[in-house]
Amino acid sequence: MIALDVNTTTREVFGNIAPWMRVVFFIMIAASLGVLAWQVLAHVRQWRKGRPGGFERDWRVWLERLTVYALAQKRVHKKSLGALLHLLLFSGFLVLTIGTTLLGIAYDGPYYFHHGWYYLIYELTMDVFGVVFILGCLLAMYRRAFSRKPSLGHNWRDWWLLGILLALGITGFAVEALRMHYTQVEPWLAHWSTVGWMIDRTMLRGIDIESAKTMHLVTWWLHTILVAGFFATIPVNRFLHVITGPMNIATRPERPMGALVPLKMETVEETGLIGVGQIGDFNRQQLLSLDACMECGRCEDVCPATASGKPLSPKFIVTDLRGVMAHGGELHGVAINPDTLWSCTMCQACVQECPVLIGHVDLISDMRRYLVGEGKLSGPPARSLQQIGNQGNPYGKPNGERLAWAEGLDVPTVESNPDFEYLFWVGCAASFDPRAQKVARATAQLLKKGGVNFAVLGKEETCTGDPARRIGDEFLFQERATTNVETLGRRQVKKIVTACPHCHNTLQNEYPQFGGQYEVQHHSTLLAELIEAGHLTNDTATDGEPITLHDPCYLARVNGIVDAPRSVLGAEKDEQYREMPRCGKKTFCCGAGGGRMWFEEPPAQRVSNLRAQEAIATGAQTLATGCPFCLNMMSDGMAGTKGGENVKVLDIAEVLLSRQRPNKSSGAPTDV
Ligand code: SF4
Ligand code: SF4
Repeated sequence: MIALDVNTTTREVFGNIAPWMRVVFFIMIAASLGVLAWQVLAHVRQWRKGRPGGFERDWRVWLERLTVYALAQKRVHKKSLGALLHLLLFSGFLVLTIGTTLLGIAYDGPYYFHHGWYYLIYELTMDVFGVVFILGCLLAMYRRAFSRKPSLGHNWRDWWLLGILLALGITGFAVEALRMHYTQVEPWLAHWSTVGWMIDRTMLRGIDIESAKTMHLVTWWLHTILVAGFFATIPVNRFLHVITGPMNIATRPERPMGALVPLKMETVEETGLIGVGQIGDFNRQQLLSLDACMECGRCEDVCPATASGKPLSPKFIVTDLRGVMAHGGELHGVAINPDTLWSCTMCQACVQECPVLIGHVDLISDMRRYLVGEGKLSGPPARSLQQIGNQGNPYGKPNGERLAWAEGLDVPTVESNPDFEYLFWVGCAASFDPRAQKVARATAQLLKKGGVNFAVLGKEETCTGDPARRIGDEFLFQERATTNVETLGRRQVKKIVTACPHCHNTLQNEYPQFGGQYEVQHHSTLLAELIEAGHLTNDTATDGEPITLHDPCYLARVNGIVDAPRSVLGAEKDEQYREMPRCGKKTFCCGAGGGRMWFEEPPAQRVSNLRAQEAIATGAQTLATGCPFCLNMMSDGMAGTKGGENVKVLDIAEVLLSRQRPNKSSGAPTDV
């Protein structure tokens, strides 16, 4: 009989287990952990086939990421069955593992602390989380059987795993209930082991003590065999991510989302490698990341290429590369098709969603670099690269025509106004594309009306190199970046404003890799500041038509600028403002990024058509955006989508300009 004094309250450990059985138990657990370690080492050997390095080394970053993404599961929170069952499984598994470890320490350690109030709370906690764990298993089984989304990876091993986990939970409670039955625990104490007590009171009624002991022994062995089997098989099932997920979360290199890794000329000379041609050309951290994938399909669910029927799924990029890493074989043209790589818009939605922080875009970018290096790119995108190299812009126009958009506006240049505060970086699209030129005109007029001391580079401006870098021509990008950094330094540029999110991203996040440090603003943030300061007006009553905003990926998702374009539109006070379901940082791509602007694609596979449908469904008569490429794509998307013919596609600067009242200093701008 257990004593009634709370302070001395405890329970037996291994009470019904003969000494030789305890020895066998410890040997089994040690052997299964040995098998686990041996198999994990086999994975480590695979990662070591990659190029050395690539790991984040700052332990503070490790701690922060592990807390946010592994422990708090930041990326898993969602209102979905998958998120709920993962939370139940994760919290149940974590608490039960910690609890069992504590019991082991108490049993084997020098100080037996498993008694008193600690023991009572321990028992209650373990029972609650045991139920949580079993519920998670049942929900996971239900989802696999009846409500599995197509993007969720699935094979027979998943049933095997869930079966083991469920059996572990059930046999754990059975062992508890049988122990309570044959030790005849006092009711007040039994209540703390609630589930065991309920099983004892209902299912074990009438069973004599000796039979209960025998049943306990059998169930305990079954539980032990399941535990040992579970540990030994972790590396061959989905549960591997419990080990590799946190490893990838901690060690993925820290860098702005919009910055690709520079390729060093010295490395190319040393290795003779441009990009990734074979699996071993990835670095070791990237190879580790492949093993972290648990095939949840979150990346595929948000991929615009997958949604528009292109031959790309970010999940399969990862799992196919993992297959090559594990089993060998050719990468390009066999495991990964070139069309798959060219389909990516580099919108970063997959990267944003992945719960274990896998860097799909880096993987794709490295493989693209190899294809470009091997001369495997042809047609319009190859021509646009040539034109960036020859003319300094992907449109193939003479760079001397860079100021054609400004005709009649008396726009200050770095020569006429050398003491400018802001450099207005116009970008290639707004310099040469007739539609985007209107955005440059609107922006310049607003800057003038707002009293901004600015200047443009004119023919000294050349392409930032963004399309070259995204397509995979890293050396063309670096050549452009070096030239532009030199120009900007010569003109003593400190602050830059641009209406192009791609230029904004490259200047802000990638030029520091080449010594260019600037304060870069997208025109939305500067215009919002001018409105706030009363230098510009955004009187929404001027049009009164329903309006919605398409957030450009490289503005909202990649650089977190979400409020400023809404402020420019006066969204908060405009009853006619409509929000699309996918908005802000969770926006949906227009299809132009990653150099896709320069690729030809069949109308049926246009991402912009999908986005146009979403915008039309809001009832908006105007779709505003803040990117010349989005402007271009969404205009095509509206033209090719039923109901889109009458929807105007405008840049936020054009909308704002149309709402300006005349003032004495600059007159009434009427360009739009
Ligand atoms: S790559 Fe990440 S998001 Fe995609 S399936 Fe794997 S774990 Fe899930
Ligand atoms: S970056 Fe965008 S287009 Fe490319 S794989 Fe990821 S989600 Fe798909």
